Amino acid sequence: MAHVKAEILLDVKNLTKYYPIKGNFFGKSKEVIKAVDGVSFQVKKGETFSIVGESGCGKSTTGMSLLRLTDATSGEIVFDQKNVLEMKKYEMQEYRKNIQVIFQDPYSSLNPKHSIKKILSEPFVINQTLSKTELEEKIISLLRLVGLDIHHLHRYPHEFSGGQRQRIGIARALALNPQIIVCDEPVSALDVSIQSQILNLLKSLQQKLGLTLIFISHDLSVVEHISDRIAVMYLGKIVETGTREEIFNNPQHPYTKALLSSVPIADPKQKKMKHRINIEGDIPSAKNPPKGCAFYSRCPVKMDKCNEVIPELRKVSPNHQALCHLI
Ligand code: SF4
Repeated sequence: MAHVKAEILLDVKNLTKYYPIKGNFFGKSKEVIKAVDGVSFQVKKGETFSIVGESGCGKSTTGMSLLRLTDATSGEIVFDQKNVLEMKKYEMQEYRKNIQVIFQDPYSSLNPKHSIKKILSEPFVINQTLSKTELEEKIISLLRLVGLDIHHLHRYPHEFSGGQRQRIGIARALALNPQIIVCDEPVSALDVSIQSQILNLLKSLQQKLGLTLIFISHDLSVVEHISDRIAVMYLGKIVETGTREEIFNNPQHPYTKALLSSVPIADPKQKKMKHRINIEGDIPSAKNPPKGCAFYSRCPVKMDKCNEVIPELRKVSPNHQALCHLI
């Protein structure tokens, strides 16, 4: 139903995460690193909302703030009409069942000393009272859901390939029937052929279970086929947001254009048409962000004004916005 698709599941308003910089021997420093600097977006039920940008842009910190694995400095994350940042312990327990995470490196997030059976039992032991048989049935159905066999139950993480370990990570994330899964670079450590298997698995699980995915990646080519909407982050801010079609077919921000120009094209006929835009230098330090536009030092089309005046988020179309003086 159309209205179900449009239901807002998470409403993130002006989220910030500042890290204080250690002071010297004589006292506290007032300086901060603005890892996430006033980020606002909404995630709709059943969609895949992707957050992309280079390492250090604040995308993972945003994801960790949604999960409350790190405490945001200010802002609001509204879920089920409550601000997650103000939830009490018992409310957080409920929220955590609804929002789970898959990490880049499943090996480091799976206890090497525990069998797969024990790893998949843990969420149920903590949160539910199940008989031995019920627990076993649940675990077997989770394994099937992610395409693993029952005979894998008594094996240990090191006995699996990277792709299989990510399947175990996905099974664990699904154990308590969450509504939202934050996927933090879930395929970056995998071979390209395995990447597409895991992306296809996530897509089919989304359809089967009505999941909402928040997909975090440095690579636009990874999010191209899985995303409904995309937010591009640079130096703690969202610089462009739009539907997948708008971001890929009509990018507006010079940073998005540069990121897209480095995405490989599968169709050889189109290859000649592609003009690669090189962005020089590294992302500036979030400790001393530029005075005007954050992208000024690397922007190939910068103007004098950009060094002085911070651009505002402007509408390109009803669902497409970009943070640039040229819009
Ligand atoms: Fe480039 Fe200026 Fe736009 Fe920033 S505001 S992205 S420096 S053109």
